[in-house]
Amino acid sequence: MKKIILRESQLNHLINKIILNEQEITPFYNGSGNYWATFSGLDDEGRKQEVLKIQNYVNSLKEKTINYFLNFYSNPNTVSKFKNKNNVEALKSFIKTIKVKLNNSPQNNPQPNAQGYVNSKDPSTLYLNLYTFWTGKISITMSEVMDHEIGHSISGYFKTLGETSTQSSQGYYKPEDEKDNYIASNEETYTRIQRLRSILGLKGNEDGVTIMNNIYSQFKNGMFKIPNYSFGKTQDNRYMVFKRISQEKGMLTDLWHVFSPMTYNNNRMDDIAALFAKYSQVKNNMVYLDLNFIGRMNQATKAIQ
Ligand SMILES: [Zn+2]
Repeated sequence: MKKIILRESQLNHLINKIILNEQEITPFYNGSGNYWATFSGLDDEGRKQEVLKIQNYVNSLKEKTINYFLNFYSNPNTVSKFKNKNNVEALKSFIKTIKVKLNNSPQNNPQPNAQGYVNSKDPSTLYLNLYTFWTGKISITMSEVMDHEIGHSISGYFKTLGETSTQSSQGYYKPEDEKDNYIASNEETYTRIQRLRSILGLKGNEDGVTIMNNIYSQFKNGMFKIPNYSFGKTQDNRYMVFKRISQEKGMLTDLWHVFSPMTYNNNRMDDIAALFAKYSQVKNNMVYLDLNFIGRMNQATKAIQ
C-alpha cells in the first residue's frame, strides 16, 4: 500500500474544505439524496424544527453578505462614484434592513422556478425558494444565490435614490428571447459584476488589462476551465479568445452554451458565464471575450472592495 503523507497545511486545507462544504450543502442535513423529499415526509413539528435550523443558517449567510457590502460602501473609491454623497449613508442604512423570507413550496409563489428573487416593489425583502436547494443535484449554492439577490436588492434601492447602480450596456447581440434577455439584462449585469469582483478579488477601479491578466492567469493555472475549449489572448490584451465553436454567427444563447459549462475551482459559475456571454462575440469560428468592455463596466459599477 502506498503511504500518503500530508503536510499540516495540506491537512488544514482539506479539513477546511470539508467543513466549508458541509456548512454550505448540509448545514442540517447529513446524507445524500433529495433533502426536500425527506422534508415533506416530516410531521408539522419536524418541519418547523428544520425550517428554524435553515433560518439560522440563512441568517448567517445574510450577515456575511451584508457585511461585505457595508465594507464596499465604506470605501472612498466607491463613494466617489455617487452623484450625491448623502446617498451612501442612506444606502448603508437600507442594507442593514434587508430581510430574507423562505418559501417552502412552489405554490402561491410568483417565481416558483427561481432559486431566489427580489420583489421590485419592496427591494428590502428577498425570497429564497428553499425547495430548489439540496435536491440531490448540486448546482448553485445558497451563499451564491444570497450574494446575487442582495445585489438586486441594492440595485432596486439605487433606483429609489435616483442613482443608477451601473451604466446600461448592450453587449454584442440583440436579445431575441427570454433567455437572451436574462443574459443581457442590465439589472443582472450589476449583480454579476459584483460576483466577478468578489470571486477574483477585484477592485472597482481596475481596468480591462488588469482584469485580463487576472482571468488569463487563472485559466493558465486551471482555476477557470471551459471543457473542450482552448484559450488564448490577443496581443493588445483586450480579448481572451476561445477556440471551437460550430457556428459562424453567434447568438447570446449560443455563447451561453459555450460558457455555461465553465467551472471556477471546479464549481459552475453561472453569473460569470452569463457575464462572459454578454461581452463576447464570434469571429472566424472563435469566441472573443472583450475584457476592455468588462473593465469599463467594472469602473462604472458602484461598489468595490
Ligand atoms: Zn438575478
